[in-house]
Amino acid sequence: MPSSDTGTVHIIGAGLAGLAAAVRLTVQGRRVVVHEATGQPGGRCRSYYDHVTGMVIDNGSHLLLSGNHAARSYLRAIGAEHLLEGPPSAEFDFIDLPTLKRWTVRFNDGQIPWWIFDKSRRVPDTKARDYLGLMRLMWTSNDRPLSELMRCEGPLYDRLLEPLFLAALNIEPLHGSGKLAGQIIRETLALGGQACRPLIAPGGIGDAFVAPALRALRQQGVEVTLQHPLHALNFDVDHIAGLDFGEETVALGGDDRVILAVPAFIATAMVPGLSAPTAFRSIVNAHFRVDPPGGAPRMIGVVNGTTEWIFALPGRVAVTVSDAGELVDAPRTEVAQTIWNEVARVLGLPEALPPWQIVRERRATFAATPAQNALRPGPVTTLKNLFLAGDWTATGLPATIEGSVRSGDRAADLVLAAKGS
Ligand SMILES: Cc1cc2nc3c(=O)[nH]c(=O)nc-3n(C[C@H](O)[C@H](O)[C@H](O)COP(=O)(O)OP(=O)(O)OC[C@H]3O[C@@H](n4cnc5c(N)ncnc54)[C@H](O)[C@@H]3O)c2cc1C
Repeated sequence: MPSSDTGTVHIIGAGLAGLAAAVRLTVQGRRVVVHEATGQPGGRCRSYYDHVTGMVIDNGSHLLLSGNHAARSYLRAIGAEHLLEGPPSAEFDFIDLPTLKRWTVRFNDGQIPWWIFDKSRRVPDTKARDYLGLMRLMWTSNDRPLSELMRCEGPLYDRLLEPLFLAALNIEPLHGSGKLAGQIIRETLALGGQACRPLIAPGGIGDAFVAPALRALRQQGVEVTLQHPLHALNFDVDHIAGLDFGEETVALGGDDRVILAVPAFIATAMVPGLSAPTAFRSIVNAHFRVDPPGGAPRMIGVVNGTTEWIFALPGRVAVTVSDAGELVDAPRTEVAQTIWNEVARVLGLPEALPPWQIVRERRATFAATPAQNALRPGPVTTLKNLFLAGDWTATGLPATIEGSVRSGDRAADLVLAAKGS
């Protein structure tokens, strides 16, 4: 059971950053209370029952890569790693929508990338030397847009790099941060295929990433209070003196600590002078209640369409469109119909629109440009008992599950290391 002799750690926000921090601190025996504004934990990574389709759907299909070590160790800590599923080796299926030409990119397991020398494994119409541009990207020191750092045209870019960077950065890659893109390559492709296996939670992200964490925390006596929004932090010179929840204020003792794990635009409203990203990008997800055809790949990247990734799951098909731009404001039926027309063509399904739902996340992630990346703060603040967590803090990664879990782990480690802890 958590010990209470070292003060309480108040975690504000039960997204993955807050949950990861709570799990890590609890394992170390710290007393933790989690305060979540909404009635549901998980933040931008959540599942819910949708009455229109009669299915439990995810706000967005979330993809991990096997090299996401922090996310996987978080899942291990909450006993949920087995809920992720993926192929034994790194394979990505693609289709070009206008021509229906298909290809599969197959990375080899080890660190030496011999797959680029094998025509049957690399992107069609590319040569091994085309891949050398990625090396330069890995070692870029000044952050610049991707378009200034590598060749953003040609078959390799169009058929592999653009779809992957768009998914990982959630921004039109031409404008994306070269530094963040380089870090992705360092942590995945450069480590070999065993770090690039795509992993999804076919049973839903809520069941994999959120519910087991709540169970684990509650078993350890951690309070996760829902519908308990923090209204303001009460400041006293160099520390937070209290947490203002509206009807009640929690006074903090000398050994108490606060981890603020809320989105960037909430954190900046609460902490004066805090530097944080100010621009965001959307993601649109479409969900269709339909049986995918037998043999359909679990996940297929679509090139030259509105649809970007199709996930074929038992009894349903989900589609992701990153940096969705105008699609976010287009009429929902139109969006569903456009996407379904493409899905039906790719999977060979009937044209009639099945039951559908469109989920639009307007501020899905911060805009991963060099300028916005430079605004990300570290976890330490000028207030000695306040630490920051969240995918928008300076993790070196784009806004991803891996980044948010690392930020939560890092804030927890700072609390554990803080004087008086
Ligand atoms: C549609 C979509 C698809 C995505 N796909 C992928 C993917 O494929 N792979 C991947 O790795 N990542 C993906 N991401 C990104 C990933 O979901 C996020 O990086 C991650 O969930 C962010 O977690 P977080 O804890 O940092 O922030 P959040 O999830 O935003 O959590 C912050 C929490 O703070 C709470 N809060 C806000 N204000 C207050 C307050 N005043 N008091 C108390 N609580 C408060 C919020 O309600 C929320 O629960 C996707 C995101 C979206 C939206």
